[in-house]
Amino acid sequence: NPASLVQIMLHLGEMVTATQSVNEETLQLLAAELDYNLLVVSPEEEDRELLETFDIEFGEDEGDESDLVARPPVVTVMGHVDHGKTKLLDAIRNTNEVAREAGGITQHIGAYQIATEHEGEDRKITFIDTPGHEAFTAMRARGAKVTDIAVLVVAADDGVKPQTIEALNHAQAADVPIVVAVNKVDKEGADPNKVRAQLTEYGLVAEEYGGTTMFVDISAKNGIGIENLLEAILLTADAELDLRANATMDAQGVAIEAHLDKGRGPVATVLVQRGTLRVGDSIVCGEAFGRVRAMLDDNGEAIQEADPSRPVLVLGLTAVPGAGDNFIVVTDDRMARQIAQQRAARKRIADMARSGRRRTLEELFSEMEKGQVDELKLIIKGDVSGSVEALEDALLKIDVGDEVRLRVLHRAVGAITEYDVNLAVADDNAVIIGFNVRPEVRARDLAEREGVDIRYYSVIYQAIEEIEAALKGMLKPEF
Ligand code: GDP
Repeated sequence: NPASLVQIMLHLGEMVTATQSVNEETLQLLAAELDYNLLVVSPEEEDRELLETFDIEFGEDEGDESDLVARPPVVTVMGHVDHGKTKLLDAIRNTNEVAREAGGITQHIGAYQIATEHEGEDRKITFIDTPGHEAFTAMRARGAKVTDIAVLVVAADDGVKPQTIEALNHAQAADVPIVVAVNKVDKEGADPNKVRAQLTEYGLVAEEYGGTTMFVDISAKNGIGIENLLEAILLTADAELDLRANATMDAQGVAIEAHLDKGRGPVATVLVQRGTLRVGDSIVCGEAFGRVRAMLDDNGEAIQEADPSRPVLVLGLTAVPGAGDNFIVVTDDRMARQIAQQRAARKRIADMARSGRRRTLEELFSEMEKGQVDELKLIIKGDVSGSVEALEDALLKIDVGDEVRLRVLHRAVGAITEYDVNLAVADDNAVIIGFNVRPEVRARDLAEREGVDIRYYSVIYQAIEEIEAALKGMLKPEF
């Protein structure tokens, strides 16, 4: 039990309380003492296990070899700042303008798909529309493998720069083939061959130099060489990758971008990696879940289904997922909710373990703003029962709509005790309100150690004002 563990820790020279979060090192120490094998599992591993309890395997194409169909490559554009990544992404989109249906309006949803012709066949390519390797690494750090091919943009008048090397390191570490776009060839002083020479040092040897990397000279500004670049991407994909997916299974993929839309609620751009996503599907995306109410493509057109490598904007989630969160279609809403809730619970524990402290009221509000928490939990302590009840009544009457609510976990007369603090700790996000009372010394110390937020008031309206203002603040969606 906790008490004996605390004793053992004391013997080991560690002063801890039963409710205190301990770091991994301390846990290892404890495990060694008790002759336990402590296995620290990665979040990805843990999530895989969680999904397995629901009989879901993420990242695996199910079915037979015969179910696999070719899917378009997914491309990320990387390179040094100002070398033309954004311009190139715009240029690629624009050359494809004709392919867009009349009436469509370009929507920046974080990714787009274009149609092109390659060796007499109709082909598609998906581009991640957030340039730079920040997005790439952020997603990779979360275990999401999104990119099939990296386009490394290098300005011909500037040559290889620190971020060029950084970008290619990231791509090589992820084992992603690179196509080099030598940009700004229209500029005076442009020296495309110098770029080729410079990059040989980093293992990128151009085909014309006897290597295997495709280099394409382009001008994103003048739209020169764009078709050649698309050609090179498809040639590289066909030569080095076997891009196929099962389009018949329940859809799986990754969230690329998400935000809270004033009118539409949480919206997320997801990239379907396998299976086919349909309107009406029950999905889980990170800790968000819901039913796909509608899907929009990058032209703002409503679509009914999305096949592998297709990016779509999904409406109908309960919360805003994070970039790099995986999404899966499950059999029903109940399962979706269960998975999302279990993930949220695990994340809370992991966060606690990591930070070793709880959140303050301010941090909590900012988190609620992001739509992750919908409840503000309070523990109210006061000097006389009349004031405690009055305060509770008043606080519960605060009406800020359905999106956030207030819950009183416990209220009592008397000083703030260790019990109150422990309760706040156990119920992670709870905040303690002290009305004309102070905490006991040990309670104060514990609260400090655990990072529990205690607020003191001596006037009721002040407490109401502050809580109400905060609750209202949480309603404002952040863009
Ligand atoms: P990013 O920081 O890599 O996204 O670079 P941008 O796409 O914002 O481009 C940086 C600057 O270079 C902008 O002023 C562009 O207009 C300019 N630029 C981009 N591509 C070309 C090009 O092919 N030729 C010329 N002359 N300028 C370009």
